[in-house]
Amino acid sequence: MVRNLILIFLSIVFLGCQESSDNKIAIVIHGGAGTIVKENITPELERSYFLKLEEAIRVGYEILKNGGSSKEAVEKTIHVMENSPLFNAGHGAVLTSDGTAELDASFMDGETLDAGAIAGVKNIKNPISAAIAVMEKSPYVLLSSNGAEQFASEVGLEIVPNSYFITERRKTQLKAIQNKNEVSFYDPYIKDSKYGTVGCVALDVNGNISAGTSTGGRSNKKWGRLGDVPIIGAGTYANNECCGISATGWGEFFIRNVVAYDIAALVNYKKLNIKEASKLALEKVKDLGGDGGVIVLDKNGDVSMDFNTAGMYRAYINNEGELTVKIYND
Ligand code: ASP
Repeated sequence: MVRNLILIFLSIVFLGCQESSDNKIAIVIHGGAGTIVKENITPELERSYFLKLEEAIRVGYEILKNGGSSKEAVEKTIHVMENSPLFNAGHGAVLTSDGTAELDASFMDGETLDAGAIAGVKNIKNPISAAIAVMEKSPYVLLSSNGAEQFASEVGLEIVPNSYFITERRKTQLKAIQNKNEVSFYDPYIKDSKYGTVGCVALDVNGNISAGTSTGGRSNKKWGRLGDVPIIGAGTYANNECCGISATGWGEFFIRNVVAYDIAALVNYKKLNIKEASKLALEKVKDLGGDGGVIVLDKNGDVSMDFNTAGMYRAYINNEGELTVKIYND
């Protein structure tokens, strides 16, 4: 009798283990794309990017490994990048023509197809959390400027002065652009580094895919300019049936090409794999005159990190727990 009970107990444990090892988890991130070439980046700065990308992705992977949701993994991973001055998101975001930081973010849940986004906000410390709160705690998908800020404060998110986001690096960048009198992505740290938006896509043990993106938009932007990031389907999209996508690049072209949804549609309807779909969608962006990159993660845990710029800050951890971190086109 005791022996039988032990056998039953052991087979339950074994079946449980088997089930969880069959379920794939994976996570992929980007920290922006652009003319990122080794000659233009110091070894110290290169190391800082590698370390921060690794730190961020490990936060999300730990959550997934412990059975946490892809939503939490995406949110906490993006927090690390929003809180770092290295990227164009949160602290260290690029500045508008008035010298302020105006942030956009979005999130999509691939299981329910629920989504949330905020645009043109100046005081929410972690915009990705506000995007998730819009999805979960409001009847809306997209809230902007003052309304979004009031909402974020009412739901208890951390509010900071706009000066929290502003760094010397971005002030120098803005001055250089304004002297040349153009709207640009010029970055004094890395010549022409262009786009520094951050994004994350994760697949959890329950097969749920989530995608999130957070940005300061374009340097020297004017008149309440919004990019692709807060537009669901342009900069961010997720659907468990196929894949999750987060984009970085020249937002106007990503909106016009509905890039994130385009990739999902190519996978869903045309049965392309995520690499073929990303390539095609980025070719369409290029044909119109734009550039940038995308990260895509599908329901099997396969990853694509494609771009038509010289480089893209990016990393992924696959189902075996293997980490890859890359910056250049290699
Ligand atoms: N896509 C962003 C925008 O246009 C910029 C970026 O990716 O860095 O707002």
